[in-house]
Amino acid sequence: MRRWHDLVLAAKEDFAAIMTAEAGKPLAEARGEFLSGVQSIEWFAEEAKRVEGETLTHPIPGKKAFTLRSPVGVVGSITPWNFPFSMITRKVSPAIAAGCTVVLKPSELTPLSALALAELAQRAGIPDGVLNVVVGGAREIGGTILDSDVVRKIGFTGSTRVGRLLMEGAAPTVKRVSLELGGNAPFVVFEDVDVAKAAKLVVASSLRNSGQTCICTNRVLVHESVHDALAEALVEECRKIVVGDGFDANTTQGPLINAAGRDKVEAQIADGFRRGARVLTGGKRPEFPEGSPLNNGYFYEPTVVVDAPVDSDLFRVESFGPVTPLFKFKTEEEAVALANGTEFGLAAYVATNDLSRALRLADSIETGMLGINEAAITSYVAPFGGVKHSGLGREHSKHGIAEYLDMKTVVIGL
Ligand code: ADP
Repeated sequence: MRRWHDLVLAAKEDFAAIMTAEAGKPLAEARGEFLSGVQSIEWFAEEAKRVEGETLTHPIPGKKAFTLRSPVGVVGSITPWNFPFSMITRKVSPAIAAGCTVVLKPSELTPLSALALAELAQRAGIPDGVLNVVVGGAREIGGTILDSDVVRKIGFTGSTRVGRLLMEGAAPTVKRVSLELGGNAPFVVFEDVDVAKAAKLVVASSLRNSGQTCICTNRVLVHESVHDALAEALVEECRKIVVGDGFDANTTQGPLINAAGRDKVEAQIADGFRRGARVLTGGKRPEFPEGSPLNNGYFYEPTVVVDAPVDSDLFRVESFGPVTPLFKFKTEEEAVALANGTEFGLAAYVATNDLSRALRLADSIETGMLGINEAAITSYVAPFGGVKHSGLGREHSKHGIAEYLDMKTVVIGL
C-alpha cells in the first residue's frame, strides 16, 4: 500500500488531467480531490498496523476471553462519478488494509481514474486478484456482486434510490453494507455573523464541484434580519465565478456531468418559478461565443434564488447543481425545525459567533457531519457518513477500517 501510495502521488498531474477529462471539473478542483484521495491511501496503510482486538475481563472465575479481528472477505465497491478518484481510495484502501480483496465497479460515466489506480496498484506489487476493476453495465455487475455469497460486504456511494436497491439485494446473503447516500444539507446563518464572510463559506460549500457533492449546501436558512444582505453578498460571490472548460486555468466552475444532471436543475428552478421564487443571479445556461464547443457542454450558471416556499423542490430535493436557495427564519427553534425538515442527514453547516448557540445546534441538528463556521469538513481524520436516509457506516478515521473487519470472540476455560 505504501508503494501504491508513492506511485499514485508521483502521478498527481496525470490523475488531475484524467479527472478533469472524465468529470469536467476544473484542474484546481481535480488537484484538491487528488490530495484528499491520495491521503486516504496513506492513512489506511498506517491504520493496517492498528487492527486490534481486546482482552476481556470475564465475570466467571476460570474463564478468559478476548476478541480477534479478521477481514470481512471479498468486498464489492460501487462508486459514483462526482469524485472519480477519491471515492475509490476511501473504499478500496481500508478494505485492502483490513486484508480484504475488492471487486470495484466505478461509475460508467467516469471509469478512467479507477483503471489508472488499478494499473498503479499492479505496478506497486499488490498481488493479482486483490484489486479487481469491472467496468460496464451497472445492473448486471451490481446484480452479480449482490448474488454472490462469496462477496461479504458492499461499500457504496451514490443515490439513496440505488442504496435502497443494494440494501435489499444484500439481504438474501446477509452482506454487510456501508452506504453513503444523498444529502440535503442546510447552512444556517444567524444574524450575529459577518455576512460577507458567511457568504464566502456558503458559496464554497454550495458550489463545490458545480454543486455536485453529497455534502454541498442545498438550503441556506438565514435569519430574516440578514436575509437581503446575505443574498446580495452571495450574488457578488457568484459573479466572481468563471464557468468554462476545466482545462482552462481561469475556470472556477466546470459543467454538470450530463444532460440528465442539467435537466434536474432546470426542472427544480422551473418548479421554483411556478411557486413564486425569484432568481437573483444565474438561473440559466451560460452563453459562450458563437461556434465555441463549450456550447455543447452541460453548463449552468451559479444561481441564487429567494422566495421559494418550503414545499418547493428547491427545499425538498437535492439539486446536485450550482443552485443556492435562501429561506428565512425568525427563531433558533424555527431554524432547527427547517434544518431537520428533510429525510436526509448527511452534512449541515452553521454560521454563528454565539458559542452556546453553536453547541445547542451541534446537539439538535440531525446530521452525520456538522461544520461550524467552516465549509470544508472532509478529512481522513474525521468520520464521514450520514444519518436517516443518508446512509449507514462511516468512511475515513479509525472507524473507516472497522467497516471492513469482522469480530470474533474467543472464550477459554482454564
Ligand atoms: P448518482 O446519482 O451519483 O449517479 P447512482 O446511485 O445512480 O448515483 O450511481 C452510483 C453508482 O451506482 C454508479 O457506479 C452506478 O453505476 C451504480 N449503480 C446504479 N444503478 C445500480 C444498480 N441497480 N446496481 C448496482 N449499482 C448501480
